[in-house]
Amino acid sequence: PTMAHSKALLVLENFIGGKFVPCSSYIDSYNPSTGDVYCRVPDSGKEEVEAAVKAAKDAFPVWSSKSPLERSQILNKLADMIEHDLEAFAQAESKDQGKTITFARTVDIPRAVHNFRFFASSILHHVTECTEMPTMGCVHYTSRVPVGVAGLISPWNLPLYLLTWKIAPAIACGNTVVAKPSEMTSVTAWMMCKLLEKAGVPPGVVNVVFGTGAKAGEALVCHPDVPLISFTGSTLTAQRITEKSAAHCKRLSLELGGKNPAIIFDDADLSQCIPTTVRSSFANQGEICLCTSRIFVQRGIYSEFLKRFVEEAKKWKTGNPSDPTINVGALISKEHLEKVRNYVKKAQAEGARVLCGEGVDPLALPPGNQKGYFMLPTVIAEVKDESCCMQEEIFGPVTCVVAFDTEEEVIKRANGVKYGLAATVWSSNVGRVHRVAHRLQSGLVWTNCWLVRDLNLPFGGMKASGIGREGAKDSYEFFTEVKTITIKH
Ligand code: NAD
Repeated sequence: PTMAHSKALLVLENFIGGKFVPCSSYIDSYNPSTGDVYCRVPDSGKEEVEAAVKAAKDAFPVWSSKSPLERSQILNKLADMIEHDLEAFAQAESKDQGKTITFARTVDIPRAVHNFRFFASSILHHVTECTEMPTMGCVHYTSRVPVGVAGLISPWNLPLYLLTWKIAPAIACGNTVVAKPSEMTSVTAWMMCKLLEKAGVPPGVVNVVFGTGAKAGEALVCHPDVPLISFTGSTLTAQRITEKSAAHCKRLSLELGGKNPAIIFDDADLSQCIPTTVRSSFANQGEICLCTSRIFVQRGIYSEFLKRFVEEAKKWKTGNPSDPTINVGALISKEHLEKVRNYVKKAQAEGARVLCGEGVDPLALPPGNQKGYFMLPTVIAEVKDESCCMQEEIFGPVTCVVAFDTEEEVIKRANGVKYGLAATVWSSNVGRVHRVAHRLQSGLVWTNCWLVRDLNLPFGGMKASGIGREGAKDSYEFFTEVKTITIKH
């Protein structure tokens, strides 16, 4: 860009030891709904990570010795401040990520606020264990202490939502953190840094280093003074992180991809099931790890389901994310859009039928969005189970619908992928719902609903979808070390 052009760009800085610091080099960040570069993100590496880890280490003794109540009050203050600026955060998230302003206003930012409030509260209610051994004259009890400097790495699909889901429990437990958001969606993390001092978060407790996974992310993963890494992202990156951290035997929490099935039995209430399954397939452009991408429908209702499902999917409007009537915004990048489109092409080449969306229906965009990364909600039928469209995570507005006959058969087919994150079961038979939920290889099973979460309970995946769980108790256990202490009297 020319000088005049670059002046108009938003330039982010790292946040280290309570101060914003410029970086020696930067990377471009695009507005997905226009295709324009609008922001420059620090291209941090070892040096910046080193400074951030040092600041976090220095802040640890004071922060870790504060009472849970003191920390709780600070988290609540920060929650209030983000909530106060909710609209500005929502606008920024929508512009940076391509998601609709409605989704950012109603899901992303409210949840970021709630993450801080939730852990501000839950940190006050943990109890440790105690056992007695009267014949030995002993009592044993457990004690939990923060671990140290936590490395937090988050993806681009729910930027502030997922980053705060890690920062909140980490600091509530008394750790200090170095966070690295996705290089594609860094703006809301940077905005949050501006609030930390006023909220009472001491310098060095939360440090944010911006940059790519290969440089900044790996420097964090390889740093000997960062004993734990909480990562949300793709399975491939998780493998790399596992290898790189092995030298230090780091504690890892890995929240990864999914290939989530919806199983729809012939006794399902279709008036609830169809709109919810359209939402579970296309919400946030299908860029949620929990989105449905394989829909198994019992043969007796297959034709009716398909007809009504396509009708409903066609009602979802794709376009300018800042228009509050739009349901589907822009995909994160040009490369990602290309990848998602290629899956549709592959399905067609294999003989599957594309019933609506990509390549079938016209996509009309406003003049300002012609270069944006848009795609219509796409429904594919008659796809073979072994097709890459039924096996790999597509992470876009594409869903596959296939028929099944028996309960036994559908459980086997639903489990026949490498992932095991979330599944949905639709039936009015309570016995069947329990049976099927029990046998699905999936960390989360929603029956007759989708995305209803109680943050108290474990969240995470089986198989290639992850290691570990997050939630009130699970995150507390991950972000603390436990000791067993024996007292002889
Ligand atoms: P990604 O794995 O490419 O990147 C995630 C983060 O890791 C980014 O911050 C990236 O910069 C960083 N990173 C990349 N390479 C790294 C390396 N070698 N070392 C350290 N860090 C590195 O994932 P993405 O494309 O940003 O996100 C989409 C993926 O995230 C999808 O697979 C999706 O299912 C998954 N996801 C999972 C959950 C969950 O809770 N299970 C939630 C949201 C997204």
